[in-house]
Amino acid sequence: MKEEKGIISSSAHSLRTLLVGNRWTFQLFLDGDLGPLSTEQKEYLKKLFENNEQAISLVSDLLTWSHAEDLKVKKEKEEIDLNELIEKILKQFEPVAKKKEIKINFEKLDLPKIKTEPKKIEIILLNLLDNALRYSPPKSQITVKIMAGEKITISVADQGIGIPVKEQAKIFEKFFRAENAKKKENVGTGLGLYISKELVESLGGKIWFESKENAGSTFYFTLAK
Ligand code: ADP
Repeated sequence: MKEEKGIISSSAHSLRTLLVGNRWTFQLFLDGDLGPLSTEQKEYLKKLFENNEQAISLVSDLLTWSHAEDLKVKKEKEEIDLNELIEKILKQFEPVAKKKEIKINFEKLDLPKIKTEPKKIEIILLNLLDNALRYSPPKSQITVKIMAGEKITISVADQGIGIPVKEQAKIFEKFFRAENAKKKENVGTGLGLYISKELVESLGGKIWFESKENAGSTFYFTLAK
């Protein structure tokens, strides 16, 4: 079983590499670097580009899912500085945020080091921040905050499209995507929040959100102390 998992995961990595290679070839065509294209040819190529992006997103999420399953079994605890961990994660989003002119604020908290599983926190925050950026308009703001209480809570707030009330109950189900999200972003798998919920629960915490359509969403999760 372990060997099969290794084969599946290395095949998925190779598949991802091939698809990312396709991305740059499509981009060369679309940018006109390989000669002029008719409007019709461009339309077809755009569709191919998008399908390829969706395939990259699916393979990436499947790899994250498999990694998350391993983490759930391993339970690797470390003493960490939560502020530092979050700063490191936020750094990865700087280029995308800059491109979309979105400001990311971080409200730190003076905390002693905590013993936790940083790899899980990293996957959860990557998913929440990726969503906040994808479902927000340019020139808006995203705020990440650490709060203390009985348990430590981390929140990610955006000023994006929000989640329609009638679809809110399904948001953590695997493969579920709300209608407004599908309209705004063709690419998406509906796996990120499902994986995040599994990881938060394996840390002994809870995940939830508050959201208003066309106004924004705030996702919260707690860490077990
Ligand atoms: P994906 O973003 O790939 O569709 P997720 O599992 O991460 O998958 O999210 C599931 C759905 O939850 C999204 O399709 C979207 O409908 C909704 N959602 C998640 N985060 C946000 C957000 N910050 N703003 C608006 N909708 C969101």
